[in-house]
Amino acid sequence: MIIAIDGPSGTGKSTVAKGVAKKLGFLFFDTGAMYRSLAWKIMQEGAVSDEKAIGKILDVFQFDIQTSAEGEKRYFVENVDVTSKIRTQEISLLASQVSTLAIVRKALVKIQRRFGHRANAVFEGRDMGTVVFPDAELKIFLTASPDVRAERRYRELLLKFPDLAASLSKEQILSEIEERDHNDQTRAISPLKQAKDAILIDTSNLTAEEVIDRIVKAKAKIRRRKQYDPMKLSYAIVYHVVRVFFKLFYRLRIYGLPHFKKGAAIIAANHTSFFDPPVISISCPEEVHFLARDSLFRIPLLGRLIRILNSHPVARDASDASTFRQLVNLLQQGEKVILFPEGKRSETEELLPLEKGLSFLVYKSHCSIQPVYVSGARDAWKRGRKLPRLFGKISCIFGSSIEWEEFEDLEKRDAMEKITQRTELAIRSLKRWFEEGAQGEPP
Ligand code: C5P
Repeated sequence: MIIAIDGPSGTGKSTVAKGVAKKLGFLFFDTGAMYRSLAWKIMQEGAVSDEKAIGKILDVFQFDIQTSAEGEKRYFVENVDVTSKIRTQEISLLASQVSTLAIVRKALVKIQRRFGHRANAVFEGRDMGTVVFPDAELKIFLTASPDVRAERRYRELLLKFPDLAASLSKEQILSEIEERDHNDQTRAISPLKQAKDAILIDTSNLTAEEVIDRIVKAKAKIRRRKQYDPMKLSYAIVYHVVRVFFKLFYRLRIYGLPHFKKGAAIIAANHTSFFDPPVISISCPEEVHFLARDSLFRIPLLGRLIRILNSHPVARDASDASTFRQLVNLLQQGEKVILFPEGKRSETEELLPLEKGLSFLVYKSHCSIQPVYVSGARDAWKRGRKLPRLFGKISCIFGSSIEWEEFEDLEKRDAMEKITQRTELAIRSLKRWFEEGAQGEPP
């Protein structure tokens, strides 16, 4: 789950985001620190107004976050600890300037999304709710009056740099805040603004504790179901009936649902049984699509049911190209599609090598991959049997989503190879996690 906290500087964002993360046991990311660290590197290289040189710096920019034993974050650029170096007024202004550049935003947004993929995390910045995590489950926008913000920033600087006491003036800080606000709000790309679905909190007259409390309460109110798109009535009816069937006869257990994300994705699963498509469909909290042999649609009741469950017929003699087009269309409409990348059912519980189809599809549609491992379906409906065995134990495990951004900078061949490898590895680690006792959240 992602909590996105945005707002201008001096609204208490960092303190509040840190506090919320601590209360909820979430990770905390200060994205301003990333812009600041880059600004520091640009300053070191003397590349301040040279976009070409900044591009080169970005190509090799090595940024790392470490957490000290006391739980404090330390920021590193190429192994140099820049944690306090990036808090000067000079770096504040430079960060605000370089963050208007498209190449800078593109590169940092990518890093931020990567940090966010596997995490329950609080992200604070300027464009978390609008650009970086538009699907964040909770979005907060903080404001405060300019005077209050200048006062807070003044106290913060005094605390960090006591030697500067004599040279700091509140008026100067206020004017720098206004200059940064202007840069941030008027830049062409990802300007600072409140996301439509963000909760606005004016922190001028609130303590940090009060703001943290409000956010933690807002988080408690989010109902998981709200995250997912509602199902069509006919789909919902069949979905629930089939779900009850699997729960009753096969004690179906679903793991890793928090990994299930909005938006287009291929649900890539191992395949051992005819039961796999329905088991995965009814384990997903939203409508999903799958392909099925056209002959199945001719079986009276089953045909009706699978059609309602968004299955799409594929003729036995259909070309791979037409199936491929059908899948790309669905993904481009933002749908989720179940795919068995081994290409056929495995006769054992072992995963077969993955075929190329999956990587082609991801490469073409830029969708994410949701790895899934299904256990127990092979025993419930053995190969060669006309009918399944009643009673058994089936589990469906969702792993963390693999994002297109991981591959977008690679050459086509490398990208496709990496997509296949990553997916295979992800399904295998879900299998291992399950077989080793299914402790905590799946990977
Ligand atoms: O939040 P902080 O003051 O540390 O951010 C430094 C600067 O980095 C901001 O003034 C803003 O211009 C830029 N920034 C941004 N987008 C973010 C976070 C920070 O443009 N998500």
